[in-house]
Amino acid sequence: MALTMFEKIWNSHVILEKPGGDTLLHIDRNFVHEGSFHAFGALAKEGRTVRKPRQNFAVADHYVPTVGRERGLDATEDADARHMIQLLEENCRVNSLTHFGMDDARQGIVHVIGPELGITQPGLTITCGDSHTSTHGALGAYAFGTGASQLKQILATQCLWLKKPKTLRVTVNGRLGPGITGKDVVLAIIAKIGAAGATGHVIEFAGPAIRSLSIEGRLTVCNMAIEAGGRAGMIAPDDTVYEYLHGREYAPKDAEWERALTQWRALPGDEGARFDREVTLDASALEPMLTWGTSPEEALPVSGRIPDPQSLGDADKRAHALQALAYMDLKPGMALTDIRIDRAFIGSCTNGRIEDLRAAAAVLKGRKSMIPAWISPGSTALKAQAEAEGLHRIFLDAGVEWRASGCSSCAAMNGDKVPPGLRCASTSNRNFEGRQGKGARTHLMSPAMAAAAMVTGRVTDVRTLTGA
Ligand code: SF4
Repeated sequence: MALTMFEKIWNSHVILEKPGGDTLLHIDRNFVHEGSFHAFGALAKEGRTVRKPRQNFAVADHYVPTVGRERGLDATEDADARHMIQLLEENCRVNSLTHFGMDDARQGIVHVIGPELGITQPGLTITCGDSHTSTHGALGAYAFGTGASQLKQILATQCLWLKKPKTLRVTVNGRLGPGITGKDVVLAIIAKIGAAGATGHVIEFAGPAIRSLSIEGRLTVCNMAIEAGGRAGMIAPDDTVYEYLHGREYAPKDAEWERALTQWRALPGDEGARFDREVTLDASALEPMLTWGTSPEEALPVSGRIPDPQSLGDADKRAHALQALAYMDLKPGMALTDIRIDRAFIGSCTNGRIEDLRAAAAVLKGRKSMIPAWISPGSTALKAQAEAEGLHRIFLDAGVEWRASGCSSCAAMNGDKVPPGLRCASTSNRNFEGRQGKGARTHLMSPAMAAAAMVTGRVTDVRTLTGA
Protein backbone atom coordinates (compact mmCIF):
# COMPACT_ATOMS: atom_id res chain seq x y z
CA MET A 1 0.00 0.00 0.00
CA ALA A 2 1.31 3.47 -0.93
CA LEU A 3 2.06 5.49 2.23
CA THR A 4 2.43 9.19 2.95
CA MET A 5 5.59 10.37 4.70
CA PHE A 6 3.60 10.92 7.89
CA GLU A 7 2.26 7.34 7.78
CA LYS A 8 5.79 5.96 7.32
CA ILE A 9 7.06 7.86 10.37
CA TRP A 10 4.00 7.02 12.45
CA ASN A 11 4.15 3.29 11.60
CA SER A 12 7.83 3.03 12.45
CA HIS A 13 7.25 4.49 15.93
CA VAL A 14 4.20 2.49 17.04
CA ILE A 15 4.83 0.41 20.18
CA LEU A 16 1.27 -0.66 20.96
CA GLU A 17 -2.23 -0.11 19.57
CA LYS A 18 -5.42 -0.44 21.59
CA PRO A 19 -8.85 -1.12 20.15
CA GLY A 20 -10.46 2.29 19.63
CA GLY A 21 -7.37 3.87 18.10
CA ASP A 22 -5.22 4.79 21.10
CA THR A 23 -1.62 4.25 20.03
CA LEU A 24 1.55 4.27 22.10
CA LEU A 25 4.24 6.06 20.13
CA HIS A 26 7.97 6.18 20.80
CA ILE A 27 9.29 9.75 21.08
CA ASP A 28 12.81 10.15 19.71
CA ARG A 29 13.57 13.66 20.95
CA ASN A 30 11.87 15.90 23.48
CA PHE A 31 12.66 19.54 24.14
CA VAL A 32 11.88 21.43 27.34
CA HIS A 33 12.01 25.13 28.21
CA GLU A 34 11.18 27.20 31.29
CA GLY A 35 7.47 26.44 30.95
CA SER A 36 8.09 22.72 31.63
CA PHE A 37 8.22 23.09 35.41
CA HIS A 38 4.71 21.63 35.92
CA ALA A 39 5.74 18.35 34.29
CA PHE A 40 9.03 18.15 36.21
CA GLY A 41 7.13 18.91 39.42
CA ALA A 42 4.57 16.18 38.77
CA LEU A 43 7.38 13.72 38.04
CA ALA A 44 9.22 14.60 41.24
CA LYS A 45 6.02 14.24 43.28
CA GLU A 46 5.90 10.61 42.21
CA GLY A 47 9.54 10.15 43.12
CA ARG A 48 10.54 9.63 39.48
CA THR A 49 13.22 11.11 37.25
CA VAL A 50 13.53 11.44 33.47
CA ARG A 51 13.64 7.96 31.91
CA LYS A 52 15.94 8.72 28.98
CA PRO A 53 17.90 11.91 29.68
CA ARG A 54 19.96 11.66 26.48
CA GLN A 55 16.82 12.04 24.36
CA ASN A 56 15.76 15.22 26.15
CA PHE A 57 17.21 18.69 25.60
CA ALA A 58 16.52 21.84 27.58
CA VAL A 59 16.95 25.48 26.66
CA ALA A 60 16.14 28.77 28.35
CA ASP A 61 14.34 30.99 25.84
CA HIS A 62 10.90 32.28 26.90
CA TYR A 63 11.97 34.29 29.97
CA VAL A 64 15.56 35.25 29.15
CA PRO A 65 16.41 38.96 28.96
CA THR A 66 17.44 40.27 25.54
CA VAL A 67 19.23 43.34 26.89
CA GLY A 68 22.10 43.42 29.39
CA ARG A 69 22.75 39.74 28.91
CA GLU A 70 26.38 40.15 29.92
CA ARG A 71 25.04 40.69 33.46
CA GLY A 72 23.55 37.19 33.45
CA LEU A 73 20.46 36.65 35.59
CA ASP A 74 20.82 40.14 37.09
CA ALA A 75 19.57 41.49 33.74
CA THR A 76 16.18 39.95 34.57
CA GLU A 77 14.42 42.40 36.85
CA ASP A 78 11.33 40.25 37.31
CA ALA A 79 11.84 37.82 40.22
CA ASP A 80 9.34 35.30 38.79
CA ALA A 81 11.15 35.22 35.43
CA ARG A 82 14.47 34.72 37.23
CA HIS A 83 12.96 31.88 39.21
CA MET A 84 11.67 30.19 36.02
CA ILE A 85 15.15 30.27 34.45
CA GLN A 86 16.76 28.91 37.64
CA LEU A 87 14.09 26.24 38.07
CA LEU A 88 14.78 24.87 34.58
CA GLU A 89 18.49 24.68 35.36
CA GLU A 90 17.79 22.87 38.63
CA ASN A 91 15.35 20.40 37.03
CA CYS A 92 17.96 19.62 34.37
CA ARG A 93 20.64 19.07 37.00
CA VAL A 94 18.47 16.70 39.02
CA ASN A 95 17.47 14.76 35.90
CA SER A 96 20.89 14.86 34.10
CA LEU A 97 19.49 16.64 31.05
CA THR A 98 21.59 18.52 28.50
CA HIS A 99 20.78 22.16 29.22
CA PHE A 100 21.60 25.12 27.01
CA GLY A 101 21.40 27.84 29.64
CA MET A 102 21.31 31.56 28.92
CA ASP A 103 25.14 31.80 28.91
CA ASP A 104 25.67 28.79 26.63
CA ALA A 105 26.92 29.56 23.10
CA ARG A 106 24.26 27.09 21.86
CA GLN A 107 21.35 28.90 23.58
CA GLY A 108 18.49 30.15 21.49
CA ILE A 109 14.80 29.68 20.85
CA VAL A 110 14.00 25.98 21.17
CA HIS A 111 12.64 25.71 17.61
CA VAL A 112 15.68 27.49 16.22
CA ILE A 113 18.41 25.54 17.99
CA GLY A 114 16.88 22.09 17.38
CA PRO A 115 17.56 22.24 13.62
CA GLU A 116 20.65 24.41 14.08
CA LEU A 117 22.39 21.83 16.29
CA GLY A 118 21.23 18.91 14.16
CA ILE A 119 19.11 17.49 16.99
CA THR A 120 16.13 17.73 14.62
CA GLN A 121 16.47 15.12 11.88
CA PRO A 122 14.25 13.56 9.21
CA GLY A 123 12.05 10.65 10.25
CA LEU A 124 12.13 11.41 13.99
CA THR A 125 9.22 11.95 16.35
CA ILE A 126 9.87 15.20 18.20
CA THR A 127 7.91 16.82 21.01
CA CYS A 128 8.06 19.93 23.15
CA GLY A 129 5.63 21.55 25.54
CA ASP A 130 5.11 24.34 23.03
CA SER A 131 2.65 24.58 20.14
CA HIS A 132 5.19 25.77 17.58
CA THR A 133 7.06 22.46 17.76
CA SER A 134 5.57 21.93 14.30
CA THR A 135 8.58 23.97 13.09
CA HIS A 136 10.86 20.91 13.21
CA GLY A 137 8.71 19.19 10.56
CA ALA A 138 10.50 21.31 7.95
CA LEU A 139 13.32 18.76 8.09
CA GLY A 140 10.95 15.82 7.57
CA ALA A 141 10.18 14.99 11.21
CA TYR A 142 6.79 14.41 12.85
CA ALA A 143 6.97 17.16 15.46
CA PHE A 144 4.17 18.42 17.65
CA GLY A 145 3.46 20.34 20.84
CA THR A 146 2.24 18.70 24.03
CA GLY A 147 0.39 19.73 27.16
CA ALA A 148 1.89 19.45 30.65
CA SER A 149 0.46 15.98 31.42
CA GLN A 150 1.66 14.62 28.07
CA LEU A 151 5.06 16.14 28.72
CA LYS A 152 5.21 14.39 32.08
CA GLN A 153 4.37 11.09 30.35
CA ILE A 154 7.20 11.64 27.86
CA LEU A 155 9.72 12.56 30.56
CA ALA A 156 8.73 9.48 32.55
CA THR A 157 8.57 6.94 29.71
CA GLN A 158 9.86 8.48 26.40
CA CYS A 159 6.52 7.33 24.92
CA LEU A 160 3.14 8.96 24.42
CA TRP A 161 -0.43 7.72 23.95
CA LEU A 162 -1.96 9.38 20.90
CA LYS A 163 -4.76 9.06 18.40
CA LYS A 164 -3.62 9.04 14.79
CA PRO A 165 -4.33 12.39 13.11
CA LYS A 166 -5.69 12.76 9.59
CA THR A 167 -3.54 14.02 6.72
CA LEU A 168 -3.86 17.18 4.64
CA ARG A 169 -1.58 17.96 1.71
CA VAL A 170 -1.15 21.63 0.82
CA THR A 171 0.45 21.87 -2.62
CA VAL A 172 1.88 25.24 -3.62
CA ASN A 173 2.27 25.21 -7.40
CA GLY A 174 4.13 27.65 -9.65
CA ARG A 175 7.05 29.93 -8.81
CA LEU A 176 7.34 32.51 -6.08
CA GLY A 177 7.85 36.03 -7.39
CA PRO A 178 10.79 38.21 -6.30
CA GLY A 179 10.48 39.34 -2.69
CA ILE A 180 7.91 36.66 -1.77
CA THR A 181 8.96 34.61 1.25
CA GLY A 182 7.93 31.56 3.24
CA LYS A 183 6.05 33.89 5.62
CA ASP A 184 3.94 35.21 2.73
CA VAL A 185 3.23 31.65 1.58
CA VAL A 186 2.08 30.44 4.98
CA LEU A 187 -0.01 33.55 5.73
CA ALA A 188 -1.71 33.06 2.34
CA ILE A 189 -2.40 29.40 3.18
CA ILE A 190 -3.89 30.29 6.58
CA ALA A 191 -5.98 33.09 5.02
CA LYS A 192 -7.30 30.55 2.52
CA ILE A 193 -8.11 27.59 4.79
CA GLY A 194 -8.73 29.49 8.04
CA ALA A 195 -7.27 29.28 11.55
CA ALA A 196 -9.18 26.03 12.12
CA GLY A 197 -8.79 24.79 8.54
CA ALA A 198 -6.42 21.95 9.38
CA THR A 199 -7.81 20.95 12.79
CA GLY A 200 -7.14 17.28 13.48
CA HIS A 201 -4.76 16.98 10.54
CA VAL A 202 -1.04 16.80 9.97
CA ILE A 203 -0.20 19.10 7.08
CA GLU A 204 2.32 18.03 4.47
CA PHE A 205 3.47 21.07 2.46
CA ALA A 206 4.43 20.11 -1.07
CA GLY A 207 4.82 21.42 -4.60
CA PRO A 208 7.52 23.27 -6.52
CA ALA A 209 7.20 26.53 -4.59
CA ILE A 210 7.75 24.72 -1.27
CA ARG A 211 10.69 22.77 -2.72
CA SER A 212 12.25 26.06 -3.87
CA LEU A 213 12.31 27.42 -0.31
CA SER A 214 15.51 27.43 1.73
CA ILE A 215 15.57 25.60 5.06
CA GLU A 216 14.80 28.91 6.77
CA GLY A 217 11.73 29.43 4.57
CA ARG A 218 10.53 25.87 5.18
CA LEU A 219 10.96 26.28 8.95
CA THR A 220 8.81 29.43 8.79
CA VAL A 221 6.07 27.60 6.87
CA CYS A 222 5.97 24.61 9.24
CA ASN A 223 6.20 26.90 12.29
CA MET A 224 2.81 28.39 11.40
CA ALA A 225 1.08 25.07 10.53
CA ILE A 226 -0.33 25.26 14.06
CA GLU A 227 -1.92 28.64 13.22
CA ALA A 228 -4.04 26.84 10.63
CA GLY A 229 -5.09 24.40 13.38
CA GLY A 230 -2.73 21.66 12.16
CA ARG A 231 -1.44 19.05 14.59
CA ALA A 232 1.92 19.30 12.83
CA GLY A 233 3.46 20.52 9.58
CA MET A 234 6.02 18.67 7.55
CA ILE A 235 7.98 18.80 4.31
CA ALA A 236 9.62 15.81 2.64
CA PRO A 237 13.40 15.89 3.13
CA ASP A 238 15.65 16.41 0.13
CA ASP A 239 19.24 17.42 -0.66
CA THR A 240 18.61 20.93 0.75
CA VAL A 241 17.92 19.28 4.15
CA TYR A 242 20.88 16.89 3.97
CA GLU A 243 23.29 19.70 3.05
CA TYR A 244 21.93 21.80 5.91
CA LEU A 245 22.35 18.99 8.48
CA HIS A 246 25.73 17.70 7.42
CA GLY A 247 28.43 18.44 10.01
CA ARG A 248 26.09 19.86 12.66
CA GLU A 249 26.91 18.95 16.26
CA TYR A 250 24.22 16.32 16.82
CA ALA A 251 23.91 15.08 13.20
CA PRO A 252 25.12 11.54 12.50
CA LYS A 253 28.78 11.26 11.50
CA ASP A 254 30.81 9.10 9.06
CA ALA A 255 29.27 5.63 8.50
CA GLU A 256 26.24 6.60 10.60
CA TRP A 257 25.67 9.57 8.29
CA GLU A 258 25.59 7.25 5.25
CA ARG A 259 23.18 4.90 7.01
CA ALA A 260 20.97 7.82 7.99
CA LEU A 261 20.98 9.19 4.44
CA THR A 262 19.73 5.85 3.10
CA GLN A 263 16.86 5.89 5.63
CA TRP A 264 16.03 9.56 5.02
CA ARG A 265 15.87 9.07 1.24
CA ALA A 266 13.14 6.45 1.74
CA LEU A 267 10.97 8.85 3.78
CA PRO A 268 9.11 10.92 1.13
CA GLY A 269 5.58 9.67 0.46
CA ASP A 270 5.03 6.91 -2.12
CA GLU A 271 3.61 7.65 -5.54
CA GLY A 272 -0.17 7.44 -5.27
CA ALA A 273 -0.28 7.80 -1.47
CA ARG A 274 -3.64 9.22 -0.44
CA PHE A 275 -4.31 12.17 1.86
CA ASP A 276 -7.57 12.73 3.72
CA ARG A 277 -7.74 16.24 2.21
CA GLU A 278 -5.96 18.23 -0.48
CA VAL A 279 -5.60 22.02 -0.89
CA THR A 280 -3.71 23.83 -3.66
CA LEU A 281 -2.36 27.36 -3.97
CA ASP A 282 -0.82 29.27 -6.89
CA ALA A 283 2.54 30.74 -5.83
CA SER A 284 2.79 33.08 -8.82
CA ALA A 285 -0.29 35.01 -7.63
CA LEU A 286 1.16 35.79 -4.19
CA GLU A 287 2.05 39.26 -2.91
CA PRO A 288 3.74 40.14 0.40
CA MET A 289 1.14 39.37 3.08
CA LEU A 290 0.26 40.85 6.46
CA THR A 291 -2.42 40.47 9.07
CA TRP A 292 -4.91 43.25 9.79
CA GLY A 293 -6.91 41.53 12.58
CA THR A 294 -6.35 39.44 15.69
CA SER A 295 -6.18 35.99 14.10
CA PRO A 296 -3.49 34.80 11.67
CA GLU A 297 -6.30 34.01 9.20
CA GLU A 298 -7.16 37.72 9.06
CA ALA A 299 -4.38 38.30 6.53
CA LEU A 300 -4.33 40.01 3.14
CA PRO A 301 -1.93 40.88 0.33
CA VAL A 302 -0.25 44.26 0.97
CA SER A 303 -2.23 45.84 -1.89
CA GLY A 304 -5.49 44.91 -0.12
CA ARG A 305 -8.05 46.90 1.86
CA ILE A 306 -9.54 46.15 5.28
CA PRO A 307 -12.64 44.04 4.64
CA ASP A 308 -16.15 45.07 5.67
CA PRO A 309 -17.25 42.53 8.32
CA GLN A 310 -20.82 42.86 7.02
CA SER A 311 -19.68 41.27 3.75
CA LEU A 312 -18.59 38.07 5.54
CA GLY A 313 -21.18 35.31 5.18
CA ASP A 314 -20.04 33.30 8.21
CA ALA A 315 -21.58 34.74 11.41
CA ASP A 316 -18.65 33.69 13.65
CA LYS A 317 -16.10 35.23 11.28
CA ARG A 318 -18.22 38.40 11.06
CA ALA A 319 -18.35 38.73 14.86
CA HIS A 320 -14.61 38.08 15.14
CA ALA A 321 -13.81 40.64 12.43
CA LEU A 322 -15.95 43.30 14.16
CA GLN A 323 -14.15 42.70 17.45
CA ALA A 324 -10.76 42.62 15.69
CA LEU A 325 -11.38 45.96 13.95
CA ALA A 326 -12.35 47.56 17.25
CA TYR A 327 -9.25 46.17 19.00
CA MET A 328 -6.95 47.11 16.11
CA ASP A 329 -8.62 50.54 15.69
CA LEU A 330 -9.06 50.08 11.93
CA LYS A 331 -11.93 50.90 9.57
CA PRO A 332 -13.39 48.79 6.74
CA GLY A 333 -12.22 49.86 3.28
CA MET A 334 -8.94 51.35 4.49
CA ALA A 335 -5.88 50.54 2.34
CA LEU A 336 -3.39 48.43 4.27
CA THR A 337 -0.61 50.76 3.13
CA ASP A 338 -2.37 53.60 5.00
CA ILE A 339 -1.78 51.90 8.35
CA ARG A 340 0.81 53.74 10.41
CA ILE A 341 3.22 51.56 12.43
CA ASP A 342 4.64 52.57 15.85
CA ARG A 343 7.07 49.74 16.61
CA ALA A 344 8.75 46.86 14.81
CA PHE A 345 10.13 43.55 16.03
CA ILE A 346 12.18 41.07 14.02
CA GLY A 347 12.82 37.75 15.69
CA SER A 348 10.98 34.66 17.11
CA CYS A 349 11.05 31.00 16.09
CA THR A 350 9.12 32.00 12.97
CA ASN A 351 11.53 34.53 11.50
CA GLY A 352 14.65 34.95 13.59
CA ARG A 353 17.09 33.02 11.38
CA ILE A 354 20.07 34.16 9.33
CA GLU A 355 18.14 34.45 6.06
CA ASP A 356 15.59 36.63 7.88
CA LEU A 357 18.31 38.87 9.28
CA ARG A 358 19.93 39.17 5.85
CA ALA A 359 16.58 40.09 4.27
CA ALA A 360 16.03 42.81 6.88
CA ALA A 361 19.59 44.11 6.40
CA ALA A 362 19.07 44.33 2.62
CA VAL A 363 16.17 46.74 3.23
CA LEU A 364 17.76 48.70 6.09
CA LYS A 365 21.17 49.20 4.48
CA GLY A 366 21.80 52.96 4.11
CA ARG A 367 18.37 53.80 5.56
CA LYS A 368 17.08 54.92 8.98
CA SER A 369 14.26 53.47 11.04
CA MET A 370 11.53 56.06 11.70
CA ILE A 371 10.17 54.08 14.63
CA PRO A 372 11.59 52.31 17.71
CA ALA A 373 12.55 48.84 16.51
CA TRP A 374 14.55 45.88 17.74
CA ILE A 375 15.94 42.66 16.37
CA SER A 376 16.46 39.58 18.51
CA PRO A 377 18.22 36.78 16.63
CA GLY A 378 16.81 33.27 17.06
CA SER A 379 19.96 31.92 18.69
CA THR A 380 23.21 33.06 20.23
CA ALA A 381 25.11 31.31 17.42
CA LEU A 382 23.04 33.20 14.83
CA LYS A 383 23.85 36.44 16.61
CA ALA A 384 27.55 35.65 16.25
CA GLN A 385 27.08 34.68 12.60
CA ALA A 386 25.18 37.89 11.83
CA GLU A 387 27.90 39.92 13.53
CA ALA A 388 30.61 38.09 11.54
CA GLU A 389 28.71 39.10 8.39
CA GLY A 390 28.46 42.70 9.59
CA LEU A 391 24.65 42.71 9.64
CA HIS A 392 24.51 44.18 13.14
CA ARG A 393 26.38 47.26 11.85
CA ILE A 394 23.63 47.86 9.30
CA PHE A 395 20.96 47.50 11.99
CA LEU A 396 22.74 49.79 14.44
CA ASP A 397 23.43 52.40 11.73
CA ALA A 398 19.71 52.34 10.92
CA GLY A 399 18.94 53.08 14.58
CA VAL A 400 17.57 49.60 15.27
CA GLU A 401 18.34 47.87 18.59
CA TRP A 402 20.42 44.71 18.21
CA ARG A 403 19.51 42.47 21.12
CA ALA A 404 20.42 39.03 22.49
CA SER A 405 18.56 35.86 21.57
CA GLY A 406 15.27 34.75 23.08
CA CYS A 407 11.53 34.66 22.48
CA SER A 408 11.46 38.39 23.26
CA SER A 409 8.37 40.24 21.94
CA CYS A 410 6.78 37.17 20.37
CA ALA A 411 4.98 36.48 23.65
CA ALA A 412 6.66 39.20 25.73
CA MET A 413 7.07 36.88 28.75
CA ASN A 414 10.52 38.36 29.41
CA GLY A 415 9.10 41.88 29.59
CA ASP A 416 9.85 42.92 25.96
CA LYS A 417 6.32 44.31 25.64
CA VAL A 418 4.71 46.60 23.10
CA PRO A 419 2.96 49.42 25.03
CA PRO A 420 -0.87 49.48 25.06
CA GLY A 421 -2.48 50.99 21.96
CA LEU A 422 0.70 50.90 19.89
CA ARG A 423 0.86 49.10 16.58
CA CYS A 424 3.76 46.68 15.98
CA ALA A 425 5.02 45.19 12.73
CA SER A 426 6.12 41.78 13.96
CA THR A 427 7.73 38.76 12.33
CA SER A 428 6.30 36.41 14.98
CA ASN A 429 3.40 33.99 14.55
CA ARG A 430 0.47 35.16 16.67
CA ASN A 431 -1.47 38.40 16.57
CA PHE A 432 -4.00 37.55 19.29
CA GLU A 433 -5.25 40.34 21.55
CA GLY A 434 -2.55 41.12 24.11
CA ARG A 435 0.00 38.68 22.67
CA GLN A 436 2.79 41.29 22.64
CA GLY A 437 1.52 43.06 25.75
CA LYS A 438 -1.83 44.28 27.08
CA GLY A 439 -3.55 46.40 24.43
CA ALA A 440 -0.70 45.94 21.91
CA ARG A 441 -1.74 45.75 18.24
CA THR A 442 0.21 43.23 16.18
CA HIS A 443 0.55 43.03 12.40
CA LEU A 444 2.31 39.82 11.34
CA MET A 445 4.55 40.04 8.29
CA SER A 446 7.90 38.90 6.88
CA PRO A 447 11.25 40.33 8.08
CA ALA A 448 11.67 42.29 4.83
CA MET A 449 8.19 43.80 5.25
CA ALA A 450 8.88 44.63 8.92
CA ALA A 451 12.12 46.35 7.84
CA ALA A 452 10.16 48.29 5.19
CA ALA A 453 7.73 49.40 7.93
CA MET A 454 10.70 50.57 10.01
CA VAL A 455 12.01 52.90 7.31
CA THR A 456 8.63 54.33 6.28
CA GLY A 457 6.68 54.21 9.56
CA ARG A 458 3.75 52.58 7.79
CA VAL A 459 2.76 49.33 6.08
CA THR A 460 4.78 49.31 2.87
CA ASP A 461 5.17 46.88 0.00
CA VAL A 462 8.87 46.06 0.45
CA ARG A 463 9.20 45.56 -3.31
CA THR A 464 8.81 49.33 -3.78
CA LEU A 465 12.00 49.79 -1.73
CA THR A 466 14.07 46.95 -3.13
CA GLY A 467 12.94 47.15 -6.76
CA ALA A 468 12.04 43.43 -6.65
S1 SF4 B 1 9.36 32.59 19.79
FE1 SF4 B 1 7.19 32.73 20.35
S2 SF4 B 1 6.15 30.99 19.40
FE2 SF4 B 1 8.37 30.62 19.34
S3 SF4 B 1 8.79 29.37 21.14
FE3 SF4 B 1 9.12 31.51 21.73
S4 SF4 B 1 7.15 32.27 22.53
FE4 SF4 B 1 6.76 30.32 21.44
